[in-house]
Amino acid sequence: MSSRIPKFGRMKIEQRRKIIQESAGLDDAEMALLLEGGFSPLEADLMVEGVIGLHALPLGIATNFIVNGRDVLVPMAVEEPSVIAAASNAARMIRQGGGFSAEADESIMAVQVELQDPGPDAAGKIQNEKDRLLTLADEAQPELKSLGGGARDIEIRKTEASGNRLIVHIYVDCLDAMGANAVNTIGEALAPELAALADARAGLKILTNLADRRLVRINARVKFESLERRSSGCSFSGADVARRVVEASDFALADPYRAATHNKGIMNGVDAVIMATGNDWRAVEAGAHSYAAAGGTYGPLSTWSIEEDGILCGSLEMPMAIGIVGGAARIHRGAAAARKIMNIKSARELACIIGSAGLASNLAALAALGSEGIQAGHMGLHARSVAMSAGAVGDQIDAVASRMCSSGPVTVPRAKEILSEMHSKNESEK
Ligand code: NAD
Repeated sequence: MSSRIPKFGRMKIEQRRKIIQESAGLDDAEMALLLEGGFSPLEADLMVEGVIGLHALPLGIATNFIVNGRDVLVPMAVEEPSVIAAASNAARMIRQGGGFSAEADESIMAVQVELQDPGPDAAGKIQNEKDRLLTLADEAQPELKSLGGGARDIEIRKTEASGNRLIVHIYVDCLDAMGANAVNTIGEALAPELAALADARAGLKILTNLADRRLVRINARVKFESLERRSSGCSFSGADVARRVVEASDFALADPYRAATHNKGIMNGVDAVIMATGNDWRAVEAGAHSYAAAGGTYGPLSTWSIEEDGILCGSLEMPMAIGIVGGAARIHRGAAAARKIMNIKSARELACIIGSAGLASNLAALAALGSEGIQAGHMGLHARSVAMSAGAVGDQIDAVASRMCSSGPVTVPRAKEILSEMHSKNESEK
């Protein structure tokens, strides 16, 4: 089934649910579950501590995505208006150029073992025992090993800043798991052996979220004609928008303050899919921003350029430590339904889709910033939330939102004013 579903955003919820149910083959129970947040309070009580209820977020579907030649409907859980519409809109532009091409590294995570005050030639002694240490690591995670994953390499780091400590990285292929628990177990199992070999005291044993051997790389080619923008009062040629997207990308390369917001735009898409699939967004955020600063200066995770006539090219590279097993993935049945909607079978496939959502969100933001600005579209979608904050209910919400958009400003006082005018009008008509 195609992910191109014209006017999906303007349909009623029931109509959208019917389309998604049919395309993903979800049963009625799974569809009902999605209305309730994807899991029960009893399941929540198994996930975290002190549970008193559930905290819901809107779950939407971004359309138009083609990732590595395959149409994908992308579930997004997010509270911010315009994120899903913007990602769908940019994915539509990118699909006209063939869609996203994406690749994800093997699921390599590293656990760090800190060795304090090591004795002479500690690094050499550890290196000499590398094979035995890798076997010991696999014995700490036999299931992972039996599935084809497990310990792959050991690296010893010593920098000027690391002072009187050796830092040992044990690299583990975590397959379809995010892998934090798996590698932490390995770190704790190996620490006494490493400390003995190095004649050192074992300090911290914990993964690094700077998962720089688990990167996702996304590329997109956008025809200039797909970038053309016409809205009331302004019009921009595709070539103009492309040039401005490139200028915005250069600005992010030149200035960390701009790079921070550029990357926030990427994380709009990334985090929304991470949330919908029950993954750990703090881990991915930590990985993203540490990778963005890994060169010594904070920079953008994506760049845009014009490499051939009439084509805007975007590329994104960032760590993507996510899983489809382990963590909340086992308990969160809504996350399982989200995976079914995307029809994915591996963590690497999911990483490719998440990265594509990030690059789509980035393009949407830069194209809007380089043309009419983001407020026009954003405030239009935000207006409904503002109307609700002012007390509008039912049909009033769209009516108030539409009046605010046509005769501004989009603010709660203005929404209250419109509501009160509507009440007075109704009273006088009785
Ligand atoms: P997990 O502990 O559930 O382990 C996954 C296990 O699933 C593997 O060890 C393996 O034995 C098994 N498995 C079954 N099929 C598999 C397959 N196809 N591929 C891989 N493994 C398979 O989960 P995890 O992924 O090790 O840990 C993730 C959790 O750790 C998340 O909840 C995360 O929030 C949390 N966490 C994160 C941090 C951090 O990011 N700093 C620190 C601690 C914990």
